[in-house]
Amino acid sequence: MSTVIATGLFFVMGCGEEAPTSPHIVMIVLDTVRADGVGARLNEHPVTPTFDRLAAEGTHFERAYAVAPWTLPSHATLFTGLAPSQHEAVHENFRLGPQYLTIAEFLKTRDYVTHAVSSNPWVAASRGLGQGFDAFEMSFKGVESMPDKGAERATDLAIAFLDRIDPAARPFYLFVNYLEAHLPYSPPDEGLEALGIDPASLERRVFSIAEAETIMTGSREATEEELELARKLYLAEIAYQDRQLERLVDALRDRGLLDQTLLVLTADHGEELGRAGMMGHEFTLSDDVLSVPLVFRYPPRVPGGQKIALPVSHLDVVPTILHAIDEHESAADLEGQSLLETALLSRDRALLAEYSQPVTLREEYWANRYPDFDTKKWAVALRALRKGERKVVENSRGEVTLIDPGRPRDASRDDDAGREIIARSMQEELAMWVDRLQSGKRPSENAN
Ligand SMILES: [Zn+2]
Repeated sequence: MSTVIATGLFFVMGCGEEAPTSPHIVMIVLDTVRADGVGARLNEHPVTPTFDRLAAEGTHFERAYAVAPWTLPSHATLFTGLAPSQHEAVHENFRLGPQYLTIAEFLKTRDYVTHAVSSNPWVAASRGLGQGFDAFEMSFKGVESMPDKGAERATDLAIAFLDRIDPAARPFYLFVNYLEAHLPYSPPDEGLEALGIDPASLERRVFSIAEAETIMTGSREATEEELELARKLYLAEIAYQDRQLERLVDALRDRGLLDQTLLVLTADHGEELGRAGMMGHEFTLSDDVLSVPLVFRYPPRVPGGQKIALPVSHLDVVPTILHAIDEHESAADLEGQSLLETALLSRDRALLAEYSQPVTLREEYWANRYPDFDTKKWAVALRALRKGERKVVENSRGEVTLIDPGRPRDASRDDDAGREIIARSMQEELAMWVDRLQSGKRPSENAN
């Protein structure tokens, strides 16, 4: 009966001798859900009661950051543990190359049954993300077939997979992508009702992609009422999605699998909801798009009820999974670190984010729809380094911005000079990091 306490202690010490070495693994990506899109309340109703319960039963990393602001590179990072400039599943390429080892491929060598269900057309075998999966099922219905974008079918497909396999005979790895929070925001009634909103009381039920684009391109200014409606519909999408998540988690629990499963819950990126005229998740490395939820739940090795406010990265997800299956050699080549060892995390840890130059801006899409839109502003690659509370963002024109939330508004010129030194120092560290990634060297071969 003391097993729970004992395994908890083993966890803290980075050991795990009592936990099985082949737990079932379920990774769920809540596409486009920003960090503050979970745990929120609207009209006194929790937006994500299922997520909140899982977070309370596991360890919730409250300062988790994506390495890229959009779907393809971010999933490639979650699958490989590599940064975008390493795995190159970015704008210039739009595909993860077969030379990169995915966690699904690795788990196949450990005799796992592997299965993926995706609601996002960017998360597809055709994009190279099917490597290592026995099957890759698409639940995507098309964003125009609103209001459900595929979550109900994704859940059905995931449960059907659980029904087909024999988890007692072989461990399984299940990946699920849910897309409900993506534009357009047009939640089913279920999502509205969960938040105590009478659907008939809303002025309208849809915030469209075109609306978001006209705001972003400066074609017009958004009104505060319009942005408020967008935020409400966005949260209602997440509330609906949380009900689907509940069905999947119930299916695991009903089969006696939940507590034997390493559950990884995160988002591939967040979402801009009107700050500085930005919508969606392109053209920026702002924290609105980089801050994501991150929870690990696995009672044998992950303490329940723990909230960690130290900065962590999507680069840490694959090393954490490898640690949970006691595979240490493969993790040694990766930049990230296992989050099963929270005692090793640091407040001042440097974290990277990257965005390759968006070639889509040169395509007909934007030019046809918004002929007056000057795309030069966004036709740049971006990279960012976060350290402590500060973040430096550099674009491919060499322009550098230091973001320092602690800076007083009436800072003197002396402070500005100090900030310039800080910005330069962080810029140099960023350049060293990127050079190291591109040269393929291991982190241990470089000093901090
Ligand atoms: Zn996405």
